[in-house]
Amino acid sequence: MPSTKYIFVTGGVTSSLGKGIISASLATLLQSRGYSVTIQKLDPYINIDPGTLNPYEHGECYVTNDGAETDLDLGHYERFLNRPTSQANNITTGRVYQNVIDKERRGDYLGKTVQVIPHITDEIKESIMALGHTGEFEVVITEIGGTVGDIEALPYIEAVRQLRYELGDASLVIHLTLIPHLAATGELKTKPTQHSVQKLQESGVRPDILVCRSEQHISEEIRRKLAQFCNVNKEAVIESIDAETIYAVPILMRNQNLDSVVLKRLGLPIEDNLDLVNWKDFLYKIRYPKHEVEIGLIGKYVELHDSYKSITEAFIHAGAANECKVKIRWLHAENLNSESAHKYLEELDGILVAPGFGERGFAGKLEAIRHARVNKVPFLGICLGMQVAVIEYARNVLGLTDANSTEMDANTPHPVIDLMEEQKKISQKGGTMRLGANDCELKPDTMAHKVYRRPLISERHRHRLEFNNTYLEPLEKAGMKASGVNPETGLVEIIELPDHPWFLGTQFHPEYKSTVANPHPLFVHFIKAVVDHAHLTA
Ligand code: GLN
Repeated sequence: MPSTKYIFVTGGVTSSLGKGIISASLATLLQSRGYSVTIQKLDPYINIDPGTLNPYEHGECYVTNDGAETDLDLGHYERFLNRPTSQANNITTGRVYQNVIDKERRGDYLGKTVQVIPHITDEIKESIMALGHTGEFEVVITEIGGTVGDIEALPYIEAVRQLRYELGDASLVIHLTLIPHLAATGELKTKPTQHSVQKLQESGVRPDILVCRSEQHISEEIRRKLAQFCNVNKEAVIESIDAETIYAVPILMRNQNLDSVVLKRLGLPIEDNLDLVNWKDFLYKIRYPKHEVEIGLIGKYVELHDSYKSITEAFIHAGAANECKVKIRWLHAENLNSESAHKYLEELDGILVAPGFGERGFAGKLEAIRHARVNKVPFLGICLGMQVAVIEYARNVLGLTDANSTEMDANTPHPVIDLMEEQKKISQKGGTMRLGANDCELKPDTMAHKVYRRPLISERHRHRLEFNNTYLEPLEKAGMKASGVNPETGLVEIIELPDHPWFLGTQFHPEYKSTVANPHPLFVHFIKAVVDHAHLTA
């Protein structure tokens, strides 16, 4: 394979411009032309990984097959490219410093003074080049988190400067920026972009391509002005207009020739082989659905929808597969109780109880699950959602009124959900849960088996507590079925109710593996059941 090319994506003017989506869209276009591409995110914060962060901070924590707890942008990368990522795709300042300090303690620096330049910047450069050195990728796209000018982003920008110098034409820089529209004068303004490019240039980095987020089309005149002030070719000023769905962005970027401008700059051949047929078919299904359903998403971080990013995207993939628009009703678990539950839930076509940690909202989740079970509303419970479904069944069907998870009540007489022995010894929080891909064996003649259509699956985990097998027999006798079991540990990974049209809970997180090319079968089946239920009750 020819040597790897490196693309750096920086952001200017403001955060939240969608660097992750632009990176994923460019990668999708290059992949659709036959190139092997991966995307990496460098996060300038000091946490070792986002695993210890409250979802209100940066949204969902995304988990990879190798058990890395990562930024939610990695979810976009996988969903767009249908290719797994790993720990190597997400580096934080905390991890960079930890690696450098470990090397210092081992004596690797041979008595030298350890400094930001060159030691921290070398560590960053190594993390970037490591993906190229695997030999798997022709193009590595590295997204630098934060905004140019942030103090904490400086070592990353310096590493990019050095790499641009070392790699020359085998690398380029895309700067994503904002062109605000001033309603008072009806104008688009280029000055903030000029300033952010100046800021980048002060650090010795010159952008090759500007991707300009804007609510309105950018005129030729503005392109000319930006090109002139920012030292880029006019064809390298790319408009990125607000899109109705993130999945339209690759098409918008194609229409602006982002992929061909990139390939030309990198000296890679531009063949007439772009294949976006499946992608466009998927977009068509999103745009022109035949059905519409409403699903209640019950969680405790619902004010910030990004906390459940992979779930909402999996709904979009599975919706398209069913030619159905999935509307989400965001329901705060704390608002649900035995009196209010019916009012909030009665019109829903399906119910999903989300993953989560801790006591807050637990009672509301129990109510939502009882409602779904009794009224035969399709139900999917993920991780904590599955655990609460087990507790609800143990309490209301098996009659163990005090059944609980030891996460909620350490002294419950019936710990139907409990910590595994090895977890009891762990006091450190970061990176210590059951994380990443685990096998799961599916029992024949179960809904789980019907959904996956194979006996052995692999799904990703992120939790400490488990179904307590002491209660397996009584729960199964009472009608709940453990339909998926870990073949190595015997841990229950899936529960379902055979006397219900569609009631299933998973200890793992199926949402992490749903992609545009491969919508997750559990979500596809769930939405199908939801559509059927909606028709039945219409
Ligand atoms: N709090 C539960 C546990 O740690 C569930 C975690 C989750 O929903 N991801 O097991």
